[in-house]
Amino acid sequence: MEAYHEAREKFVAAAEAAGLRHMRHRVPYEDTPELFIDFALRKSASKRLLVHIGGVHGIEGYAGSLVQQKILAALPTAEHTSLLFVHALNPYGMAFHRRANGNNVDLNRNFSAGKICHNADYSAFATYLNPQSRWEFLRGGIEGALAFLRLGKAKSTMAIAMGQSDFPRGLFFTGRELQREILLFQNFLRAHFSEVEEVFAIDLHTGLGPHCGELLFVDPDLDPEAAPLFEKIYARPITRPDHKAGIYEIFGRLSNAIRAALPQAHLHYTIQEFGTSESKKVLAALRLENFEWHRRRPYEPPSAKVKEQMLAAFFPEEKAWRENLLALGETRWRQCWSHLESLHQSQ
Ligand SMILES: [Zn+2]
Repeated sequence: MEAYHEAREKFVAAAEAAGLRHMRHRVPYEDTPELFIDFALRKSASKRLLVHIGGVHGIEGYAGSLVQQKILAALPTAEHTSLLFVHALNPYGMAFHRRANGNNVDLNRNFSAGKICHNADYSAFATYLNPQSRWEFLRGGIEGALAFLRLGKAKSTMAIAMGQSDFPRGLFFTGRELQREILLFQNFLRAHFSEVEEVFAIDLHTGLGPHCGELLFVDPDLDPEAAPLFEKIYARPITRPDHKAGIYEIFGRLSNAIRAALPQAHLHYTIQEFGTSESKKVLAALRLENFEWHRRRPYEPPSAKVKEQMLAAFFPEEKAWRENLLALGETRWRQCWSHLESLHQSQ
């Protein structure tokens, strides 16, 4: 818990020092200590908005918080573009070192407009990902390995991670109703930015891709201009969905929640992913965390072992990793900001 509070205090201080308006919204879970989504904003007269989002997957919020503090510490003074920083969209997950929220829902699989995610291959991994006992924990490990061999790496990755609506205690659960964190974010966007016409958003994640690598994803199906546009802005390639390589499309994306909240605006959205360690290690940490979480008393902090594995998988302490995170995290934000400012100049 302390790590979460410390991160948000630093974020709020950085936002206030940069002259941004800070607003917090409590995310109530029964009996939980104070958990907030913090928003920092600076509004301009233009109809362009740049949003930076951290902690959609709770534990990944530590990386997002550091990057946001860095950007805020040297915030450009030109004020043609409205700015919004969303610190810890999933504060429960951040505080308790988990990826999902306090209802075990993956907030980047939740916005489905009432649809259910039929993911038949997930059931082959269900015992592996959510064992009911120590015995099943062992048996599930073997079953998972066999399913992996049968389906192959690409199909297995997709089956596990695209989202699933059938196993509420499992990983990558879509939830069956819209989560309050998403609703709160949408309401905030509607209340403060209903007039914007162009939105750029960077949604920062960790845990996917090679160690110290950076992957950039866009929504090619909903925004065909996105890949070429961002390749120009970022001066590097965008990662395209590739089923053979196990680069999967996900169900219930957060970007669609932003589109639904700001229907008048054109959204250009990037997921920035920082790789940490091998995917099997990341998955092993998630599996152990989930197993323990369902067995802990409510609001009991994770064990030292779970915390250590989750941090290694999503927020490594290694100096080179953190430096890379900070440098590329700030660079992508600045590149989007410069692009938006250049649109203003050319008007
Ligand atoms: Zn993530």
